Amino acid sequence: MARKLAAGNWKMNGLAADLAEIDRLGAMLPDSGCDVLICPPATLVARMAERAGARILVGGQDCHAASSGAHTGDISAAMLRDAGASHVILGHSERRADHAETDAAVRSKALAAQAEGLVAIVCVGETEAQRDAGRAVEVIASQLEGALPDDPALLVIAYEPVWAIGTGRTPTEAEVAQVHSMMRATLARRFGAAADGVPLLYGGSVKPANAAQIFAIADVDGALVGGASLKADEFGAIVSALA
Ligand code: PGA
Repeated sequence: MARKLAAGNWKMNGLAADLAEIDRLGAMLPDSGCDVLICPPATLVARMAERAGARILVGGQDCHAASSGAHTGDISAAMLRDAGASHVILGHSERRADHAETDAAVRSKALAAQAEGLVAIVCVGETEAQRDAGRAVEVIASQLEGALPDDPALLVIAYEPVWAIGTGRTPTEAEVAQVHSMMRATLARRFGAAADGVPLLYGGSVKPANAAQIFAIADVDGALVGGASLKADEFGAIVSALA
């Protein structure tokens, strides 16, 4: 069985004053039941890690494939680890769109992250046009084949339909179940029995109102949450639905 994980993706949101949300979140969390992770912008990783306490893990939203060097504006997996991060989101659809990240680039980053001991949260998901064309499962399978790194023990997969992110729309339970079951089978072909321990997250318009329904779907081990992770009361309610 995979560990359950509630992961928040703050995206390009958050100033020092917003770290108070972490204090509020910490105060409302159940003691156990699932792992809780917040991935703030890089500028806040170290300060959040210092402030969060043991119950809240902190992660990055991207890292470079190289360990150091002439890459202005980028950060390495070692820098994230040094700042207190335990996880890093890789290949989010916004990075694939804004920075032309390919599956091969995502795999290189994930290998770099795992080499530093970080858990790589590899994101996959179809566009609306791909779903409408009946190609969702095929597209996601191909993204997984291209992007999967080598260590299943430091791996989380997030299924995020591009059309469900920030839109208030979600796939049906059957659609999520179909994708997650395919992802588990793909991981099993690659990693054998270790595939069962890889948390499979759903992401895209997860809110307190739909969280319990989503977490009840087979092979959904948690969520990657954008907008609703910015406020402690909303994210705390999602954590409670999972724990
Ligand atoms: P959303 O974003 O929860 O705001 O839809 C999810 C994500 O992009 O990770």
